Amino acid sequence: MKLLIMGPPGVGKGTQASLLKSKINIIHLSTGDILRAEIIKESEIGLKAQGFMNAGKLVPDKILLDIIGDRITQNDCKNGYLLDGFPRTLNQAVGLDEILESINQSLDFAISLTANEQELINRLINRGIELGRSDDTPEIIKNRQNVYWENTAPLLDFYRQKTLLREVDGLGEISQITDRILKALE
Ligand code: AMP
Repeated sequence: MKLLIMGPPGVGKGTQASLLKSKINIIHLSTGDILRAEIIKESEIGLKAQGFMNAGKLVPDKILLDIIGDRITQNDCKNGYLLDGFPRTLNQAVGLDEILESINQSLDFAISLTANEQELINRLINRGIELGRSDDTPEIIKNRQNVYWENTAPLLDFYRQKTLLREVDGLGEISQITDRILKALE
């Protein structure tokens, strides 16, 4: 199964993605995790991405399309994957379609996790304190929320028109949300 999961920062995409990965046995590809790993390695991509990420801004599309184009064409992705945090712009979504077409693949579903914005801001402030993530401070969180609504929310329509969109309520018990997602994929 080829899936992607979208939703505003703090909605629990990462948590749900790692649970889904083991339940349906597919590769979990989080572009946020990939970029953070590149920063730790101090690679060229990492050095380019770091400034954008620390400011809560989107890393340029070209970097993301190169990362994903490289990754999903590898053998371990043949049986399926879950894209988490990608695409985040219309340009990335169109680029993803082109990559998939070139390898004769198509997406099965685009999952959108929904939740109340203030609830999410509170969650992220707590995550920043617990995990020490440098982009989980109140000001940068606000920035990331704005980025989501401006750049990423239009993707909902893009996938709705393709009848791939499945909207799932992202508030509640973690396992309950996983069940809702699995049900939406039936
Ligand atoms: P995440 O862990 O998904 O919240 O991503 C953390 C940060 O990584 C984002 O705020 C962006 O700066 C960057 N990032 C991750 N995925 C993308 C993407 N698809 N496009 C642009 N920037 C991204």
